[in-house]
Amino acid sequence: MTRNTSVVIPTLVRIKPGALDRVGVYVQRGQFQNAVILFNKELDRTLIDRLDWSLASNGVAAVDHVPVTSSSFEQAQEIFQSLPQKTDVIIGLGGGKALDVAKYVGFLTRMPYFAIPTALSNDGFCSPQCSLDFKNKKKSFPAAMPYGVVVDTEVCLNAPRILWLAGIGDSVAKITSVYDWKLAYKKLGTQVDDFAALLSDATVFQLMAKPDHDLEGMRLLATALMLNGIAMEISGSSRPASGSEHLISHALDLINAKPRLHGLQVGVSTYMISQLQGRGADRIATLFNTTGFWDEIRKDPFIRQEWIEAIKTAPTIKNNFYTILSEKDQLSDLIAIMDKDPCLQGIFI
Ligand SMILES: [Zn+2]
Repeated sequence: MTRNTSVVIPTLVRIKPGALDRVGVYVQRGQFQNAVILFNKELDRTLIDRLDWSLASNGVAAVDHVPVTSSSFEQAQEIFQSLPQKTDVIIGLGGGKALDVAKYVGFLTRMPYFAIPTALSNDGFCSPQCSLDFKNKKKSFPAAMPYGVVVDTEVCLNAPRILWLAGIGDSVAKITSVYDWKLAYKKLGTQVDDFAALLSDATVFQLMAKPDHDLEGMRLLATALMLNGIAMEISGSSRPASGSEHLISHALDLINAKPRLHGLQVGVSTYMISQLQGRGADRIATLFNTTGFWDEIRKDPFIRQEWIEAIKTAPTIKNNFYTILSEKDQLSDLIAIMDKDPCLQGIFI
């Protein structure tokens, strides 16, 4: 039996210093003329000015600027309904909120959109799903893949260091998610896409080889995160980038007294799960030591009790989603790891 796979990938990818000032050239080359810009409300104004200047000097009109205040489904709908008639391209500039909303508006309008992340804290800037608040809960919605991905590595390097560490945390999840995916194949026959699994594995090892907080490190991280999103598109599921470590993070989002960065939660849970899976823990520990990931978390530790609750809830987060947490009750093993592992000392209070 043959299965035809139809995959949408970005037409244009630019990952380099100064790319923000070239967006007008890229948009104009795609023969788009009227852009609506969605940006995070708290975004540094100079970045918006640079984008505006770049568009204007290439004859592209910015027909509207929309500050995104929340990643709510309602706001995405409102923006969609009030788009100026002549809009022919959507541009999302900023962090998770603006890009999630832009991605969904792109999906609703069927218009091309450009994703321009200003920090690399997770793999959401180029993925076929977006996460929006719906009735006070985070929910995944389908989204269009971006027409263009523009990562200005200089801009991302200037973002707070903690966001880079979160991106590192989200990227290592491939190690545990691909293991869970293969486990689900053995136990439930969940289809594994070999190419997507390979792509996920390869990118994270490239990043681990040079995890520096510099322009080249940003380029490797941006590439790894982008290819994760493409692996999800290829396989038609979130499996290449999300397994049991993400279930724990999603459960934490429901429990946490205060919201924490997705990639920091995922990084720690990936390390814990990799111990259960017996694969990759040493490499992750080394990466987190070198980058200062552990130290950053120790400044504001996680709440041990919240994590215990999240581990209990995690297997119930998704239906028909087999992971190592479905194997047997892993709680006591994970608590032992949290309490005794040398790297995790000071990570929980
Ligand atoms: Zn993630």
